[in-house]
Amino acid sequence: MEEVEAAYEWVEKKLVYRPPMKGWQSALKDGLLEAGVLPYNGFTLDHIYGTKIGVMLFDREGQKHSVVELLKYANSDTIVVYLYAYVHKILFTTKGRPKPKASGVIYQDADRVFHKAELVNKAMNEAHKINRVVLDNPMVGQGMGDNLMNIVVVPFPQPVGVSLLEVVGITKFDSFSEYCAGLSLSYNLTRRSQNHIIEVINSNAFFNYKYTNATAHELFNLMLDIPTNLRPRHVTSTLNLTQFCIDTVMTIWHYHGGCQVGRVVDKNYKVLGIDALRVIDGSTFLKSPGTNLQATVMMLGRYMGQRILRERDEVGEKNEKDLSVSPIEDETNLCSSFPKNKL
Ligand SMILES: Cc1cc2nc3c(=O)[nH]c(=O)nc-3n(C[C@H](O)[C@H](O)[C@H](O)COP(=O)(O)OP(=O)(O)OC[C@H]3O[C@@H](n4cnc5c(N)ncnc54)[C@H](O)[C@@H]3O)c2cc1C
Repeated sequence: MEEVEAAYEWVEKKLVYRPPMKGWQSALKDGLLEAGVLPYNGFTLDHIYGTKIGVMLFDREGQKHSVVELLKYANSDTIVVYLYAYVHKILFTTKGRPKPKASGVIYQDADRVFHKAELVNKAMNEAHKINRVVLDNPMVGQGMGDNLMNIVVVPFPQPVGVSLLEVVGITKFDSFSEYCAGLSLSYNLTRRSQNHIIEVINSNAFFNYKYTNATAHELFNLMLDIPTNLRPRHVTSTLNLTQFCIDTVMTIWHYHGGCQVGRVVDKNYKVLGIDALRVIDGSTFLKSPGTNLQATVMMLGRYMGQRILRERDEVGEKNEKDLSVSPIEDETNLCSSFPKNKL
C-alpha cells in the first residue's frame, strides 16, 4: 500500500493543481454542507465521504496539462516515443516456448508506412499481413462498465464564470456529485443522484445562483425535455428521483474493465497465457475508482513502471539474455486477438 500511495503522490506532485474556487463553486460547497453532506474535508485528493475541494489538470493560468507531460521524467536514453504511430498488431514468437511470447509490434507511422518494432532490434520496414489469432481469450471485453451520470442544468440570467469540477459531494450511498459552470449556464453533474442534490439546489447558499422560482423539481422537468438519451420519459420522473435517474441516465465516459485482473491479466498485469505482454490501463479495473478515474490510471502506470524496473534490476543479466531472443527469423510471428488500444 505504501508503494501505491507513493505512486499517487508522485503523479499528484507532477500534474495536479488546486482549483481557484470562486463564488459559484463556493455556493455549491456551502449548499452541500447545508444539505448534510458532511464532514467538510477541505482540499483533498482522497475519495472520502463528505464535501471536498478536488483537484484539476488546469493550472492558475488556465493551461491544461496532460499525462503526456510525464514523459519528461523518463530516461531519454532508453525510451523512444513515436508520435502519430498506430499499432496494427502485436508480434509473438512461439518457437521452443510453452506459451506465446510478445516480441514486438507492427505499427504505421504518420506517413502510413509500416514498421516492425522489436524488443531488441531496431525497427525495420516490413510488409503488413494478417495472421491467425494467437490466443482467443473470450474474457476480453467482458465485464466492461461505466459510471452512470445524471445531470441537472440550472439556468441563470447572469454569467457565473467558467469553472470545472472543483467541489465534490461524496455520499455514503456510493453516489457523488460534481459541479461545473459555463458562461451563462450553470449545471450540476450527479452520478446515481440522491436526495442531497435537491437540497443543494434548494439551499440558501445556492439561492443567488438560480431563478428564484426554480425549484429542483422544475429543473428536473426541464431536464426531461433535453435529449440526454433515447429512453422514454415518465410523467412520474419529476417527483420520483429514481425514475428521473433512469429516464435521463448518461455516460460519464469512464469506460473500464475490458481486460480485468483475474480474467485477462494476472495480478502483475501480465496477459494470461502470453509471455512478455502486460496491459496497464483503465481496462484492467474491476470497478471505476473514485471521482477521477484518470488519477488511478496514472498511479497504476507509475506504480507498475517502478515495479518493472525493480524486477529487471533483480533479474539482471538473466533478463538481458531472455530479451535477446530475436523474433525476426521466427516464422511464427502471429496476430493478436487483443484490442488495439491495449498496447
Ligand atoms: C469526454 C471524457 C471526459 C473525461 N473526464 C474525465 C475527468 O474529468 N476525470 C477523469 O479522471 N477521467 C475522465 N475521463 C476518463 C479518462 O480520460 C480515462 O479513464 C482515461 O483516459 C483512461 O486511460 P487509459 O490509459 O485506460 O486509456 P486512454 O486514455 O484512452 O489511452 C489509450 C491510448 O491508446 C491510443 N491507442 C489506441 N489504439 C491504438 C493503436 N492501435 N496504436 C497506438 N495507440 C493506440 C489512444 O489514442 C489513446 O491515446 C474522461 C473521458 C472522456 C472520454
